[in-house]
Amino acid sequence: MPSLPTLLATDLEGVLVPEIWIAVAERTGIERLRLTTRDIPDYDELMRGRIAILREHKLRLADIQAVIDTIDPLPGAQEFLDWARSRMQVIILSDTFYEFAAPLMRKLGQPTLFCNALQIDAGGSIAGYELRQPDGKRHAVAALKQINFRVIAMGDSYNDTTMLGVADHGILFRPPANVIAEFPQFPVHTEYAALQAAISALASEA
Ligand SMILES: [Mg+2]
Repeated sequence: MPSLPTLLATDLEGVLVPEIWIAVAERTGIERLRLTTRDIPDYDELMRGRIAILREHKLRLADIQAVIDTIDPLPGAQEFLDWARSRMQVIILSDTFYEFAAPLMRKLGQPTLFCNALQIDAGGSIAGYELRQPDGKRHAVAALKQINFRVIAMGDSYNDTTMLGVADHGILFRPPANVIAEFPQFPVHTEYAALQAAISALASEA
């Protein structure tokens, strides 16, 4: 059996860029946009609430994109991503939306991104959203393994743990304490340099 090429599947928010909804809450001053799945566990309820808040404030997609355009990647993220992309295939797997991620993808050099799409009405307001499939990160990693990639997956939170579990190697990067405690099987890194060293070691053992 020939050795399989290594592919890095990485989360976006909290790993390469700040949490988008938190940043939008800070920049717009709309505190209720800070709510996350930790506050409202039902994702559909959370998203419908967020869309209603944007409508209440008459914020259209273009307004939100202008806000998101003021967000920069985390310090060191661009260098890390360039390093990884020069050594292996890299795919970003995110639960965000293409329309929100677009300004950040420009800043990151247009990496490959698998995420979800928003529904925009004729007036340019966000009307809804479409999940491509439930648990999309895990399905993507499983599919990449199926076509003979050796997958290293990294992420920071609960919504990454199923893909970390199905990957050949799962890494937590800057996770909160509760995720570390609940998922002791995954190594934890907090700095890009150590993360790079860990990924290098895993890639060269193939
Ligand atoms: Mg994340």
